[in-house]
Amino acid sequence: MKTVCKENMCAGCMACLEVCSKQAIKMQDSLNAFNAAIDETLCIDCNACHKICQYNNNVEMAKPIKWYQGWAANDGERKSSSSGGLGVSLAKTFLEKYGCVCACVFKNGEFRFEFSDSQNDIVKFSGSKYVKSDPTGIYKQIQAKLRLGENVLFIGLPCQVAAVRLYMGAKYNDNLYTVDLICHGSPSPALLEMFLKDYQVSLKTVNDIQFRRKNNFHVYNGDKGIGSEKVQDLYTFAFLSCLDYTENCYVCKYARLYRVSDITIGDSWGSELAGEEQKKGISLILCQTLKGKQLLYDTNLHLEDVDLNKAIEANHQLKEPSQMPDERNKFFFEILSSNNFKKAIKNCYSKVYYKKQLKLLLAKIGVI
Ligand SMILES: Cc1cc2nc3c(=O)[nH]c(=O)nc-3n(C[C@H](O)[C@H](O)[C@H](O)COP(=O)(O)OP(=O)(O)OC[C@H]3O[C@@H](n4cnc5c(N)ncnc54)[C@H](O)[C@@H]3O)c2cc1C
Ligand code: SF4
Ligand code: SF4
Ligand code: SF4
Repeated sequence: MKTVCKENMCAGCMACLEVCSKQAIKMQDSLNAFNAAIDETLCIDCNACHKICQYNNNVEMAKPIKWYQGWAANDGERKSSSSGGLGVSLAKTFLEKYGCVCACVFKNGEFRFEFSDSQNDIVKFSGSKYVKSDPTGIYKQIQAKLRLGENVLFIGLPCQVAAVRLYMGAKYNDNLYTVDLICHGSPSPALLEMFLKDYQVSLKTVNDIQFRRKNNFHVYNGDKGIGSEKVQDLYTFAFLSCLDYTENCYVCKYARLYRVSDITIGDSWGSELAGEEQKKGISLILCQTLKGKQLLYDTNLHLEDVDLNKAIEANHQLKEPSQMPDERNKFFFEILSSNNFKKAIKNCYSKVYYKKQLKLLLAKIGVI
């Protein structure tokens, strides 16, 4: 198979598909890795895809010039978000004072990117989606807006921010604003679909999916926790154990203190602030550029000092990529042969699995 970047190292940013004038590239999702595969019968060897690829090229990254912990001053914005509500607050300010916003939404069973054109609409972006999102189609749309002189804020995973910056080039540096999330890896959405199948749920029929409510990490279908809310579900277990990310994530070049964006947001793990605040969500905020700083100060936020070294210690992604667990190969072997998420976890982590089954039973009869 001829691929745009090194085999199994694709981040699924979809930029190469958008740049190819011959539609010669197809994304192949083999659950444990993505590959942008080139159809050699259509390819004219123009090299455009290789030149745009974030794996093959490096964007300039910068050390934070300011760092804080904090949250949205508006209680509603903080409440509706996964952490301190920075994502939504920055987006609202940008829309009000700067230009338009492009970020990830869950719609029709897919994790895609959309623009927002009204304050009321911004809430559609809120919440962490612990899955590989799909930026198909956004590059040309962002470029068109930048060409018209509009300001655009793009919020995404670090690899997606790198892809957007590479696609746009240095020409639009002043108008393109970027916010990246601290990211420890992302799994294929096909794994989420497979996990939900065990509960007779299909992503296509889900209106609203959530992956966490503040410090409670759990998959929710609308208001209903999958399985029992009292027992961590297997999808969340696999995600938090770094078991099921695509292969490229374990060598991610964005997992460091030098960042790819104007502003980085994540969780302020290890915060010394009061437990009450922690329950409501505290974000970690790193700011790399002057234009990022301006946007941050224009936004109605509660900001506090943070010890950067402690923050790095508590969030390993600011130092190095997630480590691949020994069980990962077996997990994917099992899942590819059985097509069954539950069975794959059972065969790789039998102790964890049976402990969870017991807890589920206890939850069912009301003991826990
Ligand atoms: C795959 C993944 C891994 C993460 N790993 C870490 C980590 O290791 N350490 C850490 O501190 N934080 C991590 N985060 C970030 C964390 O979960 C919160 O999203 C972050 O703290 C921002 O929360 P918030 O309340 O400020 O924003 P929110 O209001 O929750 O907004 C989050 C913003 O992120 C966007 N977004 C959500 N999911 C995705 C996605 N899959 N792809 C692209 N954009 C998305 C939304 O559109 C929104 O604009 C991760 C997030 C994701 C999606
Ligand atoms: S080399 Fe050009 S034609 Fe071939 S796949 Fe890449 S972008 Fe498409
Ligand atoms: S990382 Fe992006 S540009 Fe590179 S091969 Fe994958 S989808 Fe294409
Ligand atoms: S770990 Fe790196 S490559 Fe993987 S989704 Fe996150 S930013 Fe992208």
